[in-house]
Amino acid sequence: MRRKEKNKKWKVLAAWGLLVFLTGCAGGGLSSKTRQEPGSSTTKEERFSKTDFVMDTVLQMTIYGRTDYSDEIKEKLSAAETEELSWRQADSEVFLLNQRCSEGETVEMTEAFSGWAEASLSLAQKSGGAFDPTIGNLTRLWDVEGENPTVPDKSEIQAVMESVGYEAINIEGEQPQGGRRRISMKDGVTLDLGAVGKGIGCDIAGEILGGKRDVQGAVIAVGGSILTYGSKPGGEPWSVAIRDPEGAEGEYVGVIKLEGNAFVSTSGDYEKFFVEDGKKYHHIMDPSTGYPSESDVSSVTVVCVPGKTKGKYPGLLSDGLSTACFVLGTEKGKALLEEYGAEGVLIDKENNVTVTDGLAGSLELF
Ligand code: ADP
Ligand code: MG
Repeated sequence: MRRKEKNKKWKVLAAWGLLVFLTGCAGGGLSSKTRQEPGSSTTKEERFSKTDFVMDTVLQMTIYGRTDYSDEIKEKLSAAETEELSWRQADSEVFLLNQRCSEGETVEMTEAFSGWAEASLSLAQKSGGAFDPTIGNLTRLWDVEGENPTVPDKSEIQAVMESVGYEAINIEGEQPQGGRRRISMKDGVTLDLGAVGKGIGCDIAGEILGGKRDVQGAVIAVGGSILTYGSKPGGEPWSVAIRDPEGAEGEYVGVIKLEGNAFVSTSGDYEKFFVEDGKKYHHIMDPSTGYPSESDVSSVTVVCVPGKTKGKYPGLLSDGLSTACFVLGTEKGKALLEEYGAEGVLIDKENNVTVTDGLAGSLELF
């Protein structure tokens, strides 16, 4: 599994953080190498490992400690999905909120939801709309991830874009004097936090583990969003692999070595796409055009470290920032990461790899 291919050659072209050229390609997805070394029996810690399914994706949990908290994590993630985030769940907070906002109401949000909504809106503003949490209607029109993906007519896209635009969201009470924060939206616009759901899942997992003295370390992967928590037995850093966007599943361009708590998300054009008339259409939309984004990048991995990255929700941010940077492309993406104090690895369509300064020493290319 995940073997280096001997014919792979990376050449450093220039250093901003580090700019490298990749020839030939191995590829894969974002995954973690967390296997405990055999024979480390001096600790009383055990390794608990479980794979489940939540938020329409695979949930992979490895916990090093004396107690297995994987069931608790799974339950809390499922609850966040069904009670708050799911668009399809007729009584979820987001569903009811959209319904009531469409009738012109200003709607009170729960504390958790308002935190996520504000962080998403703020990312939309800071990214100049490259990340837009009102894009749901456009996504459903294209249906890239669904049963019948299709290139819509230009007129259909134009019509749906009338209901896309984060500027139509208004959140009141950003400095709440008690009382809940409230949201309203222009008619027709809907809020969808699905694009940051997996990152939110990692934030929730981090909160659960944060209070547990009997956990030494963990890796929680919610689809392409990963939390590394605490330390690994043996003291090695965590390794998170970056898939080669041009390679097959299981082929990687390298690994990021991370110490302690970090949130890592990847957005790539190889994840979900369909082909029509020989052209590839992927799942990340450019909200300024209504079509799949056509920036210079094919994969963006973002690392947010609590305390270093600005904001209360580093998981949400790593997830949203990877989407935003994917749309913005290398140069503007880099600038946005800097603004947030986040780090990243951006791979462009010519296989140039750009790494932010703070991550340059942690990236190992194959
Ligand atoms: P990724 O992390 O690869 O972007 P996710 O599954 O986390 O994948 O999010 C994909 C979803 O994000 C899409 O299904 C779509 O609803 C939404 N999305 C696509 N483009 C954008 C965008 N520019 N801004 C916000 N959300 C988007
Ligand atoms: Mg995402």
